[in-house]
Amino acid sequence: DIPLNEAGGVLTIDLSALAANFRDVAARVAPAKCAAVVKGDAYGLGLVPTASTLWHAGARTFFVALLSEARKLRELLPDAEIFVLNGLFPGTEATYQQHALLPVLGSVPEIERWQQFCERTGEPLPAALHVDTGMNRLGLSAAEAVNVAEGRDELGFPLALLMSHLACADEPGHPLTDRQLEDFQAIVALFPDVRASLANSAGALGDPSLHFDLVRPGIAVYGARPRADVAPLQPVVRLDLRIVQIRRVHEGETIGYGAAHTAKRESRVAILSAGYADGIPRLASASDLRPGAEAVVGGHRCPLIGRISMDLLAVDITDVDEDAVAAGDFATLLGDGLALEDLARHSATIDYEILTSLGRRYHRRWV
Ligand code: PLP
Repeated sequence: DIPLNEAGGVLTIDLSALAANFRDVAARVAPAKCAAVVKGDAYGLGLVPTASTLWHAGARTFFVALLSEARKLRELLPDAEIFVLNGLFPGTEATYQQHALLPVLGSVPEIERWQQFCERTGEPLPAALHVDTGMNRLGLSAAEAVNVAEGRDELGFPLALLMSHLACADEPGHPLTDRQLEDFQAIVALFPDVRASLANSAGALGDPSLHFDLVRPGIAVYGARPRADVAPLQPVVRLDLRIVQIRRVHEGETIGYGAAHTAKRESRVAILSAGYADGIPRLASASDLRPGAEAVVGGHRCPLIGRISMDLLAVDITDVDEDAVAAGDFATLLGDGLALEDLARHSATIDYEILTSLGRRYHRRWV
């Protein structure tokens, strides 16, 4: 990892908040069980420290997108149940077997390939089935699921889980959620002995009818609010950026690329050592058309101004007491009341994209 004084910023990941969030969601969905979704390097927060914290907080089932992630997780957690969401790529079957990983099969060719592998090795290895109920991304159609149910005796391997994924659970009252629920209930009825799972974070914190046997939260556990009508859980990330310089900018002068921001008064500007190469979206700063995100500098909230560069960004600190801040200090972009969702909203994106894009040049601390 990058030493503190060689990094442009410090990304602090609060593992006790992470554990508390997991326990909180798990308690809310009981008696359903709560898995943890740790794909994308645990949403950018580091698979190893994150997953081991979640294991200690009680998570026993984990979801990743890729086999490479699953193998890393298996090394860390020999006894966890690990599902790989992105399907069974040809030729990877033996790796699943070797590391006791569970593929989530979402198409007929994948099922056939798993059947053939189980037949060849003589081992009926468990796998999950993904049934599409309206997301139209991965999963069997309802008709294909019915066929599997009817041919269950010849399937040749046990089903560890039946799952589907909600497209609009983050929008309370969205009619697609009701349709997906209804369709999933009909499929679940065909597999009465198999555990069922439908809900992401928004579903887990939504109506209990969405919970089934197992919920699969990601973003809520990482401290973001999955839907507007629930209170946020505890923030998990904090981002502090180094102030490289403090400059005086005269009224009428411009700042940064494209001369996109003009100082409307005699100004003091802090230049912070992070940019879009570190996952700070270019849209995060204010333009003439809309307000931008803020940073906390010397105890004040100050706007990001001018275009964000690859490795630098500018903050208007004119209203901050001159003695309160100096080059070399840190300014806060996430934390001290600045939420992930604020930065996401000002950047025309979602918390997920901010988290998973957080750069690899920060000094990362897990506390
Ligand atoms: N389940 C599946 C299949 C997913 O792809 C994801 C993530 O996108 C999740 C669960 C977790 O979603 P969220 O982070 O919204 O809780």
